[in-house]
Amino acid sequence: MSLLFDLGRKPPTTKTIALQVREHGAGSLDEAQRRADDARYQEITCRSALNPVKGMPFAWTLNPYRGCTHGCHYCYARRYQTQFELGSDDEFASIIFVKTNFVEVLKRELRKPSWTREYVAVGTATDCYQPIEGHYRLTRGALVALHEAGNPAGVITKGPMIVRDRDVLADMTRGAGCTVHISVPTVDEDAWRQLEPGTAHPLQRLRAVRELVDAGIRAGVLMNPIVPGISSKPAMLEKTMKAIADHGARFVGCNVMFLEGGTRDHFLKWLAQEYPELVEGYTQLYAKKYAPAEYRNEVKRVIGGLRRAHNISDRED
Ligand code: SF4
Repeated sequence: MSLLFDLGRKPPTTKTIALQVREHGAGSLDEAQRRADDARYQEITCRSALNPVKGMPFAWTLNPYRGCTHGCHYCYARRYQTQFELGSDDEFASIIFVKTNFVEVLKRELRKPSWTREYVAVGTATDCYQPIEGHYRLTRGALVALHEAGNPAGVITKGPMIVRDRDVLADMTRGAGCTVHISVPTVDEDAWRQLEPGTAHPLQRLRAVRELVDAGIRAGVLMNPIVPGISSKPAMLEKTMKAIADHGARFVGCNVMFLEGGTRDHFLKWLAQEYPELVEGYTQLYAKKYAPAEYRNEVKRVIGGLRRAHNISDRED
């Protein structure tokens, strides 16, 4: 099994790969491996692991992979793929970059005297527990490095594989602090199948929440994003909130989908194919990046009521 991924020499850098794709197209990535899930995995080396971000509730992120086989149609990370001249449609979910030296680079960065141990969010632009993590274990390596450095962190994922690392997450919880956010926008089977074709069943994700909470880890759920007309029906929201509460989540967060760049292009194309009857409504609702404030406030109000009814906090601390 491991030989399948052994490319025999030092992987190229992200810059080399971006140039290659720009000049010769994604089809030229002949070193990328094709696995049973039909995705291709391209090993690369990275120069930095800790990534500074702006406009988020945290200042640093860690993403050991780029692209995501979960292939959620609303995924805001689709738009980042275009930085590599790769498409935000199928190529986002089928060409995955694996940063093989990620843990080593991270350890080096965490040792720098200038690093002040700020909170780090793991898995913001890719799912850090997508299936290939079972082989490379880069996320686990990063968590161990963060724990050894006494660095607070949070993880966001849709991958139940996270329970494999509950030992490290429990150590982090007792140490510098750790919060796990499992993303479960809806438990509705049809909406899940349509919106998140490559992900684990929502109830499997909620069982992971239960296991993490039972292991003493602060784990909650993000009902993100609520997708208007598809996962926004009040009965669906109620069913989802009840399931989240039944699985012992410590908190629940929620946001309405936003659309921009390559994600917007991909989503609207997909919507026209799968839900043509919704296109007109979306044209009005998403004239801009965000749905209008009145709509978002109404969703917030409904979610707030459900939260109170099920006695579940919106606070992560
Ligand atoms: S699991 Fe997360 S990163 Fe992966 S496609 Fe879905 S939303 Fe994007």
